[in-house]
Amino acid sequence: MIRNDWTREEITGIFNTPVLDLIHNAATIHRQHHDPQEVQVCTLLSVKTGGCPEDCSYCPQAARYHTAVKTHKLLEVSEVLESAQHAKDSGSTRFCMGAAWREVRDNRDFDKVLDMVKGLNGMGMEVCCTLGMLTPEQATKLKQAGLYAYNHNLDTSAEFYDEIITTRNYGDRLETIENVRKSGISVCAGGIIGMGESATDRIGMLHTLATLPQHPESVPVNALVPVEGTPLEDQERVSVWEMVRMIATARILMPRAMVRLSAGRIRMNTEEQALCFLAGANSIFSGDKLLTTPNPEINADKQLFQTLNLKPRQSFKDALAGKNTLANA
Ligand code: SF4
Repeated sequence: MIRNDWTREEITGIFNTPVLDLIHNAATIHRQHHDPQEVQVCTLLSVKTGGCPEDCSYCPQAARYHTAVKTHKLLEVSEVLESAQHAKDSGSTRFCMGAAWREVRDNRDFDKVLDMVKGLNGMGMEVCCTLGMLTPEQATKLKQAGLYAYNHNLDTSAEFYDEIITTRNYGDRLETIENVRKSGISVCAGGIIGMGESATDRIGMLHTLATLPQHPESVPVNALVPVEGTPLEDQERVSVWEMVRMIATARILMPRAMVRLSAGRIRMNTEEQALCFLAGANSIFSGDKLLTTPNPEINADKQLFQTLNLKPRQSFKDALAGKNTLANA
């Protein structure tokens, strides 16, 4: 059953289940809703890097931090299409474009992004964007251009949010997610662990996601990759068990969502990634970079798929199967 009325107490109970039982329970639910051998391969390209006016403590692209990230203005449409073709040829079925903007502005750059979406649309991949805050009108324009999904992470709990970002608030986040949802674009929203938050904050974020009127179709779970020059540069890395606990709880709360094992995968060996898949993760990002932080190389992922007998999930699978991915009921 798909539920949107989870209580914090219920989620706390699930989250604190002894880890092997938690994995077992999540794996059981995963098998009821997904083919456990299938994992979607996505590619994330930074189409505009650095120089961002926001102050997200984890992000090397914030202009105010001194990091090694090289800024570049918005890429040309042709460059993006070329990258997407390469990603497709390497097995990706979802292509996500990220721009280091606080919000979308109605200017020539946005028109260019709309052209990118239109160009990518004919390539048979799910097209996703992450461009910052979005008005209902901008969401509609993206939808009309053919955008399949929009990513806007909650990052952490409402209570911990101010510790990480001060230039916008949690309500802004939720508003953009609502604008995306209303436009008919598939919602991608998750968060990051390892930023100094407590278990209660992790539970709080999952509670917000799992009690949205409709669950996000896609839930990325990221482990912080501390980057020199950012306020979180000295943060201790999270253990694989913390990732597994997040993934398994997300899988149980939002059974139909694609749970994406995202940043932080570079440090995981095959066994650790296998545990994440067993706990319900069914998507990875391929390519040697995840926006600006390192990610496993394509060949390593091919080997991973072979070793674990995984197969890449095709694009638009739910749509092709006639399932309404935009409904929870
Ligand atoms: S996470 Fe996004 S909004 Fe925050 S500083 Fe980085 S690019 Fe800007």
